[in-house]
Amino acid sequence: FTLVDSMSGQGKGVRFEDVAGLREAKIEVMEFVDYLKRPDHYKSLGAKVPKGALLLGPPGCGKTLLAKAVATEANVPFLSMNGSEFIEMIGGLGAARVRDLFKEAKSRAPCIIYIDEMDAVGRARSSGPTSWGPGGGEGEQTLNQLLVEMDGMKSREGVVVLASTNRADVLDKALLRPGRFDRHILIDLPTLQEREEIFQRHLKNIVLEDLPPHYVKRLAYLTPGFSGADIANVCNEAALHAARYKQTIVRARDLEYAIERVVGGTEKRSHAMS
Ligand code: ATP
Repeated sequence: FTLVDSMSGQGKGVRFEDVAGLREAKIEVMEFVDYLKRPDHYKSLGAKVPKGALLLGPPGCGKTLLAKAVATEANVPFLSMNGSEFIEMIGGLGAARVRDLFKEAKSRAPCIIYIDEMDAVGRARSSGPTSWGPGGGEGEQTLNQLLVEMDGMKSREGVVVLASTNRADVLDKALLRPGRFDRHILIDLPTLQEREEIFQRHLKNIVLEDLPPHYVKRLAYLTPGFSGADIANVCNEAALHAARYKQTIVRARDLEYAIERVVGGTEKRSHAMS
């Protein structure tokens, strides 16, 4: 797994203000920041704080970004692991990695564990490929270990587990029981207003000509169905296009070219999947 210290290394300083839109989701994850910052307050009131939350939604909409922002805002380390890494593991290694991950987290508490692509490890035990299915296969052992670790965690330990998935429907129901991932936070495709905010955010990274009035709103209108990652990609493609033509500044027409290009890429992806 990767350790990203909120104060150093990759992911450094992702703050709530870097996550555009997602107002509701931010309010919900803010609570976790508070649990990590003031555990005694909750304890003194006799409250059991949630141990984990599932971030649900399509790819590229800011799940990882938001989880990193929670770590930075609470000023705690961020331990991340991708669920699909467990699939390749054999001989009980998956379960061992889960054990190590939680052990490391406890030693660094307060801290955040982030499991990306949770569906890869958390698939219902009666479905999926053979080694992942019933009968104590590798996947089942890994999932069981995850459940054991979640149950063994005391809420006062100061470890919060955030996990993301875009396939909540395939998750094993045991993961969703109270005391495990009982909080669900929806991170959906951005609305028109949110797309405008995401453009504002990413356009700050590039050297732009003075855009016509309301131009960023126009960009939002031109990009229905785009995720935050698609928008970040548009801004970068526009800068690459400008550089290719030896411009010293990125122009509106570069952005429009980039939208066309990203739309093309998205269409190709969906054809390939269907
Ligand atoms: P996946 O399910 O594929 O892991 P994700 O939901 O975790 O996707 P992120 O990795 O958080 O998506 O987002 C990818 C990139 O897209 C971010 O690094 C950022 O540049 C951009 N992005 C996505 N959503 C937002 C947002 N709400 N505000 C600003 N940038 C965003």
